[in-house]
Amino acid sequence: MGHLRRWVPLILILCILIPLGSPRSILTAEELALVPASFLDLARSPEVSEYMVRIRRRIHEYPELGFEEFETSKLIRTELDEMGIHYRYPLAVTGVVGYIGTGKPPFVALRADMDGLDMEERVEWEHKSKVPGRMHACGHDAHVAMLLGAAKMLQGRQDELQGTVVLVFQPAEEGAGGAKMMIEHGALENVSAIFGVHVAAMDPIGAVASRAGPIMAACGFFEAVITGKGGHAAIPQYAVDPIVAASSVIVSLQHLVSREADPLDSQVVTVAKFEGGEAFNVIPDSVTIGGTFRAFSKESFHQLRQRIEEVNIGQASAHRCNASVSFAEPIDPVTENDRYLHQHFLNVAEDMLGVSKIIEMRPMMGSEDFSFYSEVIPSYFYYVGMKDEVGVSEPEHSPHYRVNEDVLSYGAALQASLATRYILEHHHGNNAVEEVPHDEL
Ligand SMILES: [Zn+2]
Ligand SMILES: [Zn+2]
Repeated sequence: MGHLRRWVPLILILCILIPLGSPRSILTAEELALVPASFLDLARSPEVSEYMVRIRRRIHEYPELGFEEFETSKLIRTELDEMGIHYRYPLAVTGVVGYIGTGKPPFVALRADMDGLDMEERVEWEHKSKVPGRMHACGHDAHVAMLLGAAKMLQGRQDELQGTVVLVFQPAEEGAGGAKMMIEHGALENVSAIFGVHVAAMDPIGAVASRAGPIMAACGFFEAVITGKGGHAAIPQYAVDPIVAASSVIVSLQHLVSREADPLDSQVVTVAKFEGGEAFNVIPDSVTIGGTFRAFSKESFHQLRQRIEEVNIGQASAHRCNASVSFAEPIDPVTENDRYLHQHFLNVAEDMLGVSKIIEMRPMMGSEDFSFYSEVIPSYFYYVGMKDEVGVSEPEHSPHYRVNEDVLSYGAALQASLATRYILEHHHGNNAVEEVPHDEL
C-alpha cells in the first residue's frame, strides 16, 4: 500500500499533464516523454498488476497446443467483453483481434502468442500445469496477460486515442505458422506497424533487448529417406548399404556452411535425426535422416535448401542409393526489425527505463513466427528481461522454466507506450497516414 500512495499522485499529475491525443493534436517532446513512465506506474498499480498475475496463472494451469487454444481464446474474449473492447473471432481457428480507439488510422498492432508446448512441467508450485504433457515453457502465458494488461490500460484512455490499437492474439507460434494464417485471415488489415514482445529469462528484470535489421534467422526443416538394399551384415557385397551412404551425406552437409557460405554470413545446417537399422547383423533397406537449416537472408536460405537436396541425392547416388528429400512447410522467414521502429522503440524504452537498461542484442539463429508479420508490414520484435538477483533462470523450453511475474508490468507498459506514442506521432494531425474507415468498429 505504501507503493500505491506514492504512485497515485504521480498518475494523477501525469494524467493532468498529458491529455493523450487531445484535440490540440501535437504534444511537446516533454509531454511525449512522460507517456511511458505514466504507463509503467499504471501497470505496477495493484489493479493492473494483480489482474495480469491472475490471468497469467489461469492460462499457465491449462496450456493448449497450437490451433487448439480454445479455452485460452475464450478467456481472452471474456476479458475483452468485460472491458467493452470490440473484437473479431475466429481468425486462424482460435485467434482473436481486438480494437481500441477511433476505428480510424493510424492502426498500430500489438501481438501476443497463445500456445503452450508438448512437454511436462517439472516446477513444483501452486499454479503448475494441470494438463499432463503440456506446459507453458516459452512465456506465452505471460504474453497474453501482458497484452490484456495493456488493453485494460489503453481502454481506460480510449477516448483520448486518435487512432486505433489492434490487439492480435495469435495461435500456434511454435512451428505451426499461426502468424501466417492470421495474416491470411486479415489480422493486419489497415495496420501500419506491429510490435511483438517476448519475455527473456537471461536478461535482467527492467531491461530490454533488441536491434535494428535482422534479429532472428529464417528456419527450415528437411527430411531425407536414403534407400539401398538390405542384407546380411557379414556379406556386404550382396547389399547396398544406406547407413554408409547416409553417413557420407551427413559429412558432406557440414561443408555447406564451412566451405560454400560466406564466413561473414551466419548459417547453420544441423542433422538432428538419424534412424535406420535394428539389428547388429542386418544391413537395413533404408535410413531416414533429418534436421534444420538457418540463414539470415532469403538468398542464403534458398541456396542452402537447394544444396541440401543436391548433396543428399548426389552423395546417396555415389553410394548406389536413392534419396528422396522433403522440406517442412511453413518455414519461418527472417525476423527483420524495421529501422524507423527501432528508433521509436529506443525513444520509448529510454523514457521509461533509462538508456542503461537497453541492451543491443546480437542476432540469434533461433526463429520466431513473428517474422511473417515482418514480411508484410514494418514490424518490431523485442525482449523484456525477467532475471532478478536471486532467481534461477532456465532457458525457454526447459521443463524447469519459470516466469518472474514482475516482468508483466514492464511488458504491458512497453506495449501500451509503443502503441500510444506511435499514434500520437502518426495521427493525421501529424499528417502521416491516409484515412481509411474500418468496418469492424
Ligand atoms: Zn518457444
Ligand atoms: Zn516463444
